[in-house]
Amino acid sequence: MSTTPTKKRLLSGMQPTGAGKLHLGNYEGALKAWVRLQDEYEMFCFVADWHALTTLATSGQSINADAREIALDYLSAGLDPEKCAIFLQSEVPQHAELFLLLSMLTPVTWLERVPTYKERREILADREGGEAGVSYGLLGYPVLQAADILVYRAHAVPVGKDQAAHLELSREIARRFNHTYHVDFFPEPQAVISETTGTLIGLDGRKMSKSYDNAIYLTDTADEVNAKLKKAFTTPTRLRMTDPGVPEGCSVCQLRRIYDPNGYQTQWDECRAASRGCVQSKKETAEILNAALEPLRERRKMYADDPAQLDLILKQGAQKARDTAEDTLREVRKMMRLVNVF
Ligand code: SF4
Repeated sequence: MSTTPTKKRLLSGMQPTGAGKLHLGNYEGALKAWVRLQDEYEMFCFVADWHALTTLATSGQSINADAREIALDYLSAGLDPEKCAIFLQSEVPQHAELFLLLSMLTPVTWLERVPTYKERREILADREGGEAGVSYGLLGYPVLQAADILVYRAHAVPVGKDQAAHLELSREIARRFNHTYHVDFFPEPQAVISETTGTLIGLDGRKMSKSYDNAIYLTDTADEVNAKLKKAFTTPTRLRMTDPGVPEGCSVCQLRRIYDPNGYQTQWDECRAASRGCVQSKKETAEILNAALEPLRERRKMYADDPAQLDLILKQGAQKARDTAEDTLREVRKMMRLVNVF
């Protein structure tokens, strides 16, 4: 695996959710940009399986099976193990050690005011039948996130348009460490906006999301995509072909906009003028989408058919990650006076 020391370092990752596969929204909102960024940065790309435990620890589901599916999605999207280290978070214990050490410096009040903590706490309390179901791990989640980034002393983290604020706590923790030990050790990680297309509309007209069951997955076959688009939400007021459509709110033709950037305008105009039908639009959009997904499907099949190769990629990625993270921890232990400096 080649590394280029002059490149800045970037950390990216996604969490298995229990459903084990990524959809077009994940691809357009993150993965596509990561593939571009792997040429620009020294990239570490992890599957956040420990993070998944904050909500799935009591579910009985196989986090590992899900995590491997996410790794396959990374590879199918075009992440190249020769250019970026791909690994599971739980294979790199240094994340946990730095999490513990940074926990000693992070005020509880910083964590209690994180908006996603409040939201998730309510959801979890509802699901688990009370506050006793809300774990300490959920509260500490942002510190683990900070450790994930800082353990590589990463300069950059790709985030969606509305998520730049999520990085602020990691920056605060980096500043606090540097200030406490009078060092300039951790860079304050900067957000690289990875979302290029805006929020993808799902097949029912709402945001594309696993939980709404309205997504097209990277693993969907051509037949599944055809069937999903046939049933997709279009313009509710368009009962006949002679009724004008509203492409801006139509799930099918929002996909057309993204996957046919040079041709979609004509189709949108014809829709507004009621001179084209939805059946034709859906058929054409499915063809365009399937053509775009075909290279991803081929790459996924290649890796899925060879589990030993996937094992090797994850093993080598984890080794590089551990070596880099251990360099950081060696210094951190000294600065925190856990080992003698002399
Ligand atoms: S013609 Fe296309 S844009 Fe218009 S409503 Fe039908 S599917 Fe949507």
